[in-house]
Amino acid sequence: MTETIRVCDCGEGTITYIYEMDDWNRTRSWEEFQCLHCKAEHQIIIDKRQRDHLKREALLKEAQKLATDCYLEKWLEHYKGHSSKRVWETLTGGKVYPALGTFYRHVRRRGLEVELKFWFSNELQESLKIIDVVDQEISKPLEDRNRIPELFRRSLISILEYPIKDRAERRFVEWRSFNIADIFAEAAA
Ligand SMILES: [Zn+2]
Repeated sequence: MTETIRVCDCGEGTITYIYEMDDWNRTRSWEEFQCLHCKAEHQIIIDKRQRDHLKREALLKEAQKLATDCYLEKWLEHYKGHSSKRVWETLTGGKVYPALGTFYRHVRRRGLEVELKFWFSNELQESLKIIDVVDQEISKPLEDRNRIPELFRRSLISILEYPIKDRAERRFVEWRSFNIADIFAEAAA
């Protein structure tokens, strides 16, 4: 465990940053405020992020429900008579995750229809494109959702260098797997 103590943003107190790595290379980090003012400010940001997160979830659910009600049948119809390999090619363009072997495994485990339903919900915008659906009622909540900042997506690196409002989203109090490639990718972004 490492602890770093810094002067807080208002300058009247300190913040202690704690960083831990366990025997399985999972890491977690969090901060403890020795300044009531900055702690309160920080909490306001955390609360807002949480509200944003719930709003994003609700908008996604709304779009998924509308799309499922109106177009799931068309989506399943689109793949009627296609082999698993052909379905995989359409879904991934042969490029993105999952690899063909992984896709076969999923299909074996839960069946092609369940896999297609799963894909439809999770890759909603892409899926609608594949079946040539343009529907304002569905794209509206998705666009609204994209305008709300996403919670906790940033990596844990460099947390010490950012002003307090950015630090809030770099907070990881849960154990998470440490993936160096992700961190480099995010650092480059
Ligand atoms: Zn302070």
